[in-house]
Amino acid sequence: SPAPLDNLGIARAARLWPIEEIAHRLGLPGEAVEPYGRGIAKLDPTALSALAECPRGRYVVVTAITPTPPGEGKTTTAIGLVQGLQRLGHTASVALRQPSMGPTLGLKGGATGAGYSQVLPMERINLHLTGDIHAVGAAHNLLAALIDNHLHHGLAPALDPREIRWQRVIDLNDRALRHLVLGLGGPGGGYPRESGFEITAASEVMAILALADSLADLRRRLGRLIVGLDRDGEPVTAEQIGAAGAMTVLLREAFKPNLLQTLEHAPALIHAGPFGNIAHGNSSIVADRIGLHAGDYLVTEAGFGADMGAERFFNIKCRASGLVPDAAVLVVTARALKYHSGRHPMTPGQPLPAALLAERPEAVREGGANLLKQIDNIRAHGVTPVVAINAFPDDHPSEHDAIRELCQSVGVKAVVATHVRDGGQGAQALAEALIEAIDESRDAGNGFHFLYPDDMPLTEKIERIATRLYGADGVDFAPAARMRLKAWQGQGYGELPVCIAKTHLSLSHEAGRLGAPRGWRLPVREVRLSAGAGFVYALCGDILTLPGLGPSPAATRIDIDENGNTVGLY
Ligand code: ADP
Ligand code: MG
Repeated sequence: SPAPLDNLGIARAARLWPIEEIAHRLGLPGEAVEPYGRGIAKLDPTALSALAECPRGRYVVVTAITPTPPGEGKTTTAIGLVQGLQRLGHTASVALRQPSMGPTLGLKGGATGAGYSQVLPMERINLHLTGDIHAVGAAHNLLAALIDNHLHHGLAPALDPREIRWQRVIDLNDRALRHLVLGLGGPGGGYPRESGFEITAASEVMAILALADSLADLRRRLGRLIVGLDRDGEPVTAEQIGAAGAMTVLLREAFKPNLLQTLEHAPALIHAGPFGNIAHGNSSIVADRIGLHAGDYLVTEAGFGADMGAERFFNIKCRASGLVPDAAVLVVTARALKYHSGRHPMTPGQPLPAALLAERPEAVREGGANLLKQIDNIRAHGVTPVVAINAFPDDHPSEHDAIRELCQSVGVKAVVATHVRDGGQGAQALAEALIEAIDESRDAGNGFHFLYPDDMPLTEKIERIATRLYGADGVDFAPAARMRLKAWQGQGYGELPVCIAKTHLSLSHEAGRLGAPRGWRLPVREVRLSAGAGFVYALCGDILTLPGLGPSPAATRIDIDENGNTVGLY
């Protein structure tokens, strides 16, 4: 099979345009653009209020079928697509989450695209960027410090030390920090109590950063964070601890979206990176809004498959912003459909089994059940999907044909995209199909709607997602979970949307169930309240909020060479 593209070499050979030039072409006012090193600027949302007068461009979400462990190419496709739109003469920005350093140093490697569809500068994006994730960590940990200080000094309202709901965070994979005892060393060290760390992407502060639409809204949401319970079992908030103001100030700069560029100089907005299971897994509303009002198209990536990231995009992110999506691009690969046929199991961290690369159009058709279900999941929100067949070098045309036929059978456009090999040119046909689909759905009247109304009871919202999107027969709530949901319903949290934390490797809660599994029920083990971000989340199975490292972490292959270049980050 053909030699893989040299991602790093392509990125190194690229010549960045001054970031002011990218901002200027987007029509952003100069005073809103704060350069932050070569090829990077922060955008001040307050300086962009003038932009709100500009007509809004088209809002496109990029999602995928249920992915295999290495991912199917949502990021590369989103990048390729804006390059394709740009080649057709449109202004189009791509909005992405900022990658966490945990997976970058652990398993996954870069998260900035591949081949001729990359965002630059790769090293900066994957490591630190402009420090937003660290700022989220600082704001989060400040609240943690104020909580322990509150306990130490016995301040009012009296917190029950056994009912603290706020841990500490770090942006690394480090299993040794998951469970620990704080406050050791005698009375001067505070009250000993059990606690632990989560990865910063899992912080509710990160979800808030992504959902807040102004600094004032950020401040309000931080104030609503529940830190624990008082002696009567009533929730105590960050506002009551006096933390919300300083947390907002620590997040001032992080609230400004980061502007970068793709290899073909299309604008890329990289901002916020909430977890895709216990949080909504989408980049920020402020960044999307800027791109939407500044250009003809804003293409935003939603984490994991359409049952997860796109569902939260529609029901959590669009509900919070009031923005209406115009279309969805559903990324599929031939290899993933073969995987969904169930004939070729794959282990995370291991290379793809050779059998997945062999020509097997019948396996593609078998695994196609997952594609059809995810198409249906997008249509369940009244949104038109366009299928992007993300072409890998060792794909077989007969398998692309099989995917096209599957899509044709349900009346959906499907286009082969070769943006990784060919840059924007390889996504031009996809861009054309997308524009056509948007025009058609405009003519019919944009039919977007939420999957459930605000006033549906929380238990029913969970049931609606499980049965309508996941294909479950029903939901089994642990008794304590059902009781909590009922209590929140009475305490005024009943109007919140819900976020279901489950594996992203299956439509079900079990990674091994491929395709479109039938005849199963979703078990909800526990429920938690993200009162600041504004959603309730349900835990199905064990969800790690601080990943560990494998026996061969990516970090052990990263180094600096004799010329001072970073090596091994890809
Ligand atoms: P996602 O955003 O869906 O997780 P990515 O776009 O990050 O997926 O791609 C996942 C991995 O697959 C990356 O390592 C990327 O380099 C690789 N990849 C994606 N598309 C292609 C392609 N068309 N050809 C070769 N490699 C690809
Ligand atoms: Mg991605």
